[in-house]
Amino acid sequence: MGKLDGRVVIVTGAARGQGEQEARLFAAEGAKVVVADVLDEQGEALAGELGALYVHLDVSREADWVAAVAAVKQAYGGVDGLVNNAGILRFNALVDTPLDEFMQVVQVNQVGCFLGIRTVAPELSDGGTIVNTASYTALTGMAAVGTYAATKHAILGLTRVAALELAPRGIRVNAMCPGAVDTAMSNPSRLDPDADPAEMTRALDELYRKLVPLGRIGRAEEVARLALFLTCDDSSYITGQPFVIDGGWLAGVSVI
Ligand code: NAD
Repeated sequence: MGKLDGRVVIVTGAARGQGEQEARLFAAEGAKVVVADVLDEQGEALAGELGALYVHLDVSREADWVAAVAAVKQAYGGVDGLVNNAGILRFNALVDTPLDEFMQVVQVNQVGCFLGIRTVAPELSDGGTIVNTASYTALTGMAAVGTYAATKHAILGLTRVAALELAPRGIRVNAMCPGAVDTAMSNPSRLDPDADPAEMTRALDELYRKLVPLGRIGRAEEVARLALFLTCDDSSYITGQPFVIDGGWLAGVSVI
């Protein structure tokens, strides 16, 4: 028995990174997975490997959400879960951030999450789940990522309100707050076809050895296990909460 047997779950931004690992784990746990992304080639290849459905979905576009949900209903007849995972990051001091850049990040991270909830929630089966991907920076500041941090704080607000509004239907809504995770977002060299992934991970672990109490960067597979917990019945009495997964980074600082 898989933990998600027969459940239909949409994962946005699933072509690579954490979303890819969530799609892989959910499929292994018996879910009918919908891989949604703007990276069509990678997304289609993954969906083909998993026997999943691929949909082109730019989360910032209302019409894409409507079309994606229609495609999912046509393929599977309904939907039981959503992981709002797609996101982008830009580095800039707030005083140097162009308005266009600010709005681009808001449009993908914050509006994308809102549109996902608004479009999918009415279609979710009673007892369904939504998992929103926030961040460590949803709960604390981090210089040079102010736009990103603002959108991730906003995702926690959306999560709490959606949890309250959807609880009468037994729909649970929670958020994940990862610290640094070894994907292309924290480690752009992952996109370099000539780079050695194992060597890059070793270098990142070394970088985070002093920053993070558990002494290494997180793995996408670890976040996927949290997403599974929040999507399956193991978390049946949990809703409206942020879950920090950061190797202890937020716990505090060590002075010795
Ligand atoms: P990633 O860059 O590898 O993956 C992001 C995915 O989102 C990609 O597949 C990308 O194509 C997709 N995407 C981007 N814009 C999109 C759009 N408009 N519509 C649909 N898909 C889109 O990075 P990741 O680490 O796997 O990021 C996944 C989530 O985790 C993001 O929300 C990110 O903010 C969050 N997060 C990441 C870290 C980290 O350190 N990597 C830490 C905390 C939170």
